Amino acid sequence: MNNSDPIYLDYHATTPCDPAVIEVVVPLLGIEFGNASSRQHVYGLRAAGEVNKAREEIAGFIHADPEEIVFTSGSTESINLAIKGVAELYIAKGKHIITAKTEHTAVLDCCKRLEEKGFEITCLQTDDRGAITEQQLQAAIRNDTILIALMWANNETGVIHPIEKFADIANRHNVVFFSDATQALGKIEIDAKNSGAGLLSFSAHKIYGPKGVGALYIRRKNPRVRLLPQIDGGGQEKGLRSGTLNVPGIAGFGKAVNVYKGNLSTERKNISELRDQLESALLKLPEVYINGDKVSRLPTVTNLCFRFTDGKLLMNEINKKLAVSSGSACSSANPEPSHVLLAMGLGLQSAAASIRFSLGRFTTRKDILSAIEIVKSAVEKVRTEQYPSFKSLCEQAVNEVEWHHPSVPAKLSLK
Ligand SMILES: *Cc1c(COP(=O)(O)O)cnc(C)c1O
Repeated sequence: MNNSDPIYLDYHATTPCDPAVIEVVVPLLGIEFGNASSRQHVYGLRAAGEVNKAREEIAGFIHADPEEIVFTSGSTESINLAIKGVAELYIAKGKHIITAKTEHTAVLDCCKRLEEKGFEITCLQTDDRGAITEQQLQAAIRNDTILIALMWANNETGVIHPIEKFADIANRHNVVFFSDATQALGKIEIDAKNSGAGLLSFSAHKIYGPKGVGALYIRRKNPRVRLLPQIDGGGQEKGLRSGTLNVPGIAGFGKAVNVYKGNLSTERKNISELRDQLESALLKLPEVYINGDKVSRLPTVTNLCFRFTDGKLLMNEINKKLAVSSGSACSSANPEPSHVLLAMGLGLQSAAASIRFSLGRFTTRKDILSAIEIVKSAVEKVRTEQYPSFKSLCEQAVNEVEWHHPSVPAKLSLK
């Protein structure tokens, strides 16, 4: 990062590699370049050793056995392997899959693809805090349900699902339970064995590891989960994911996990203190609301709606100084308002006027103090320029569906 670069508060999108990770990765790109499948010589054996070490490290961190870890190119691939791999293997049993509206697009798009191929998808509606109840899940299960896919923690809002309870319901009905745990890893405790989940997906680049590497946890007993590979070839990863292993990436992933060990609770506490400081300062502005659940939430994120503030103008105002994510996915491929916020009941304008601030290992108190000032003055500027009479706008707009926010009951309407 250069000094003139914006302050980075987008750690849920990606993280820089930890210096300790870079130290492990670099030699594996050069002198230690072996193919982990070439067991006939020391180059390959040393590479295989690195992979084994990482596998043990990651398995230990999530309370799994090393044989339960399959390395992939990232969480998107792990999600595809989990959902499509189960769907194709269990098709004789049924074609019904349960997921939720607030899942990552990788999950939703896998389900959409399967729907085109004749599977039936039940997409659970969350409440206005992004929560799903056990009763809701229970009621959605049918005789032909083969898979439930519900994420551990939401990338946009940080909302945490009660995974143990969901997995228990799935297991009692003999349905495979998959959870996208990409954002949970490193931020909250993950105990794969006790969670009851059959499948869990992870990504290295969200936890200060390299991009393009991830893992899928596949439970081996109580119950054993099986799936069909989605990439065929040399038979690596017990035939579940062929292709020459990304040794530098995998070793970097292992090191990234190793850095967390013994350090998870301190880091979590520091980051959540900074998050709370940012959040409480911005909530002092009028008409600012939290998107999501304040209690059951990751320590690293706050997603705020700056109601009655034009979302696009607000982003234009702050994005030279602050790197954050807006409530409308700004990638030119998809300028739509966030499907997660809309599912939680926000109006179109309220969703567009929302910003996700996600903090991480290298966020400082100074960053947060600057961020508070930058956002405060941007909100005030946009509101006064766009809406010279902010107060009367609030009064007029209270009943407008596009500016709806679930935290503001309709009966408070001033109209
Ligand atoms: C980032 C992310 C993914 C995608 O992971 P990649 O490794 O970038 O493919 C999936 N799910 C969640 C919740 C994420 O945050």
